[in-house]
Amino acid sequence: MTATITRFEAAIAPCGRATDGTRTTTEDHLGLLTEEVSYECGCRTSREEFHDGSVHRTVVNHHGRVLVDEELRGE
Ligand SMILES: [Zn+2]
Repeated sequence: MTATITRFEAAIAPCGRATDGTRTTTEDHLGLLTEEVSYECGCRTSREEFHDGSVHRTVVNHHGRVLVDEELRGE
């Protein structure tokens, strides 16, 4: 499993604030690709991309409220 952590500045968080944060992408040996973004205000988004092309996406704001929890089917 390889993980890549990238810092970013002044991105728009799910709550609408411009804030710094980090993006972590990991890929396991089965081809599952995960991207997690955490903003300094506490908002978080994650995206899991499976080897069959389907995607699971969640967005949680800094109050811990789930704004988006969806699965998109691959072709
Ligand atoms: Zn926020």
